[in-house]
Amino acid sequence: MTDFAATKAMFQLPEGVIYLDGNSLGPLPKAAPARIAQMMTAEWGEMLITGWNKAGWMAQPMRIGDRIARLIGAEPGHVATGDTLSIKVYQALASALAMNPERRVILSDNGNFPSDLYIAQGLTQMLGQGYELRVVAPEEVEASITEEIAVTMITEVDYRTGRKHDMAALTAKAHAVGAVTVWDLAHSAGAVPVDLAGAKADFAVGCTYKYLNGGPGAPAFIYVAPRHAGRALPALSGWLGHAAPFDFDLDYRAGAGVERMRVGTPPVIQMTSLECALDIWDMVDMADVRAKAIALSEQFIAGVEAACPMLELASPRDASVRGSQISFRFEHGYAAMQALIARGVVGDFRAPDIMRFGFTPLYIDEADVDAAVAIYAEVMNDRLWDRDEYKTRNAVT
Ligand SMILES: *Cc1c(COP(=O)(O)O)cnc(C)c1O
Repeated sequence: MTDFAATKAMFQLPEGVIYLDGNSLGPLPKAAPARIAQMMTAEWGEMLITGWNKAGWMAQPMRIGDRIARLIGAEPGHVATGDTLSIKVYQALASALAMNPERRVILSDNGNFPSDLYIAQGLTQMLGQGYELRVVAPEEVEASITEEIAVTMITEVDYRTGRKHDMAALTAKAHAVGAVTVWDLAHSAGAVPVDLAGAKADFAVGCTYKYLNGGPGAPAFIYVAPRHAGRALPALSGWLGHAAPFDFDLDYRAGAGVERMRVGTPPVIQMTSLECALDIWDMVDMADVRAKAIALSEQFIAGVEAACPMLELASPRDASVRGSQISFRFEHGYAAMQALIARGVVGDFRAPDIMRFGFTPLYIDEADVDAAVAIYAEVMNDRLWDRDEYKTRNAVT
């Protein structure tokens, strides 16, 4: 059994704050500042360029990939880290399309995060030749996987509503009609158990600054199924994905397996903060995370619905088809979220009317949920949101 009191003690959480926004940016592992300071002074400061070998910086992206692999059901050695998620979406999508050259259609849904759709739009425009992005409603994805589809590009858990696709079923359907799958795990990794190998997923990508708590700007990850890893081309063929970067060949030769998906110099400081977060994840069983996240979510829904009849649940009511976040619709959601944040309950707002809360058992417990419900009820029933100061939009919502 995972000791969630122990994991909670390993995060720095400001006094008086109930942090329900780990789905956007996870909190700081207490060990990270000292470890990063040590990396900077003892490694960067003393070792200088030799740190790439002596401190293991060059191997860090694959080492970290293996630690993430355990959390997403990937085979060891088949996850690489680096770059941002948008870049990894591009690589996975371009690579998957190249594996299915007779077809032209990318299938996605309108619950996907815009960056994934923008990346697909940019790629189809660049490729020309009749390539097309087809966007359907989440409920229509399964029926839309036809023999026309080259690649399905689906985010498993909807960033706004928490609606969760059935990865195994959609992957099986895609394979039955000859389509290749790209799964985005941005709201899955560290939130719900994922079984990439079991689902026979082809490609998967995700970020590490949300549920995995790697810190703002922490690197993304990419998975390529072992059966494809030797032939999938990286699309962004940078020197660190070359078979022998330090031969400085003039011609690109793809490296072994998923390591070819590396592009350029890794962000070592940021990777180091992610390693501190993964030390905590090493203490955690994803099945325990799932069970407790569902319990906390149910507690939140029941409490809020009992106290705030004006809110409409935007997330699926059935926990089995929901990720680890709960969203409510409210016309004045932005102002209401600002009022909550002012009272220490930190969630976020997603246009046009979604108030979103993430439930992360690593540092949220039942008492936090009770306290959050009480404050939410006060904000709603006393119309505390109805003040000008809560209505001016910040750049980041
Ligand atoms: C958070 C998120 C992103 C963000 O991409 P970055 O390149 O890391 O900014 C992309 N896709 C999905 C599905 C996300 O949830």
